[in-house]
Amino acid sequence: MAFDSDLEELRAAATGYAARHQVIEDCAWPEGARIAVNVTADFDAMLLRRLLGEPPMQLAKGEFGGRVGIWRLLELFGSHGITATIFTPGRICELYPEAVRAAARAGHEVADHMWEHRVPKEPAVEAAHLRRTAAALERLTGRRPIGTRSRHSHALLRAEGFLYASEDVPDHRPHYIHDADGGGAMLNLPFHYAIDDAMFFSFAWLNSENAAQRITDPDRVFELWWEAFRQQYEVGGYLNICLHPFVSGRALRIAMLDRLFSRMKTLPGVWFPSCEAVARHCLATCPPTA
Ligand SMILES: [Zn+2]
Repeated sequence: MAFDSDLEELRAAATGYAARHQVIEDCAWPEGARIAVNVTADFDAMLLRRLLGEPPMQLAKGEFGGRVGIWRLLELFGSHGITATIFTPGRICELYPEAVRAAARAGHEVADHMWEHRVPKEPAVEAAHLRRTAAALERLTGRRPIGTRSRHSHALLRAEGFLYASEDVPDHRPHYIHDADGGGAMLNLPFHYAIDDAMFFSFAWLNSENAAQRITDPDRVFELWWEAFRQQYEVGGYLNICLHPFVSGRALRIAMLDRLFSRMKTLPGVWFPSCEAVARHCLATCPPTA
């Protein structure tokens, strides 16, 4: 029966994924921290709007992120002593170089988010995009990126000196994903769409490929994210918050995040490091098994 063979295929796929997936059971964060909270911002500005084929007027929504939103987020992170990771498409270095420089100057990590928000299918072009982005970020920040939020191939990332990805959602704690051919492993710092501002606040143009319309009450998101944080504080020890300057840079959402970070800080042992700091800690204390 076709259904049975489908099920066999699914079972084989699940077993294969499980064999390649190595969770870090006990991260044992430095200085007795109970939870590591990675605050991340995907600095997409108008690049994603363009990829989704939205009309020119909609680009202004993304542009807000580059002109206003990113600056508000940097100010917010600074006021809370948060070291954030800004996942930045290479093209943003041409569009908003001052913001990228300012993020690095403030001590935040600037990491890869593809050249123009897509991973080309041709391996040679893909490699060129990754190298071009790394070079552009290094020119502005003085440091080569070692992390990415993308679907670049793990073998390519390793060859280019990348230590971690923060992309997929198959776990709630940092984990390694081993290559199917046994060629190596990549550390992944997972996020989840439930802790992604775009899922609650981003509205897209009706005729684009992403026609979702989401305008949630910030208080509702505050409650959801607080509960998610509490749960991870108790049992997981890791939370990755995914923000976008053009989404969270709006004043009422900045105010919500301000309240959220303040409340998190009322609990003992809450650590707000960059993804790089978490990655280096994981790799040093719990390296992947061979
Ligand atoms: Zn993005």
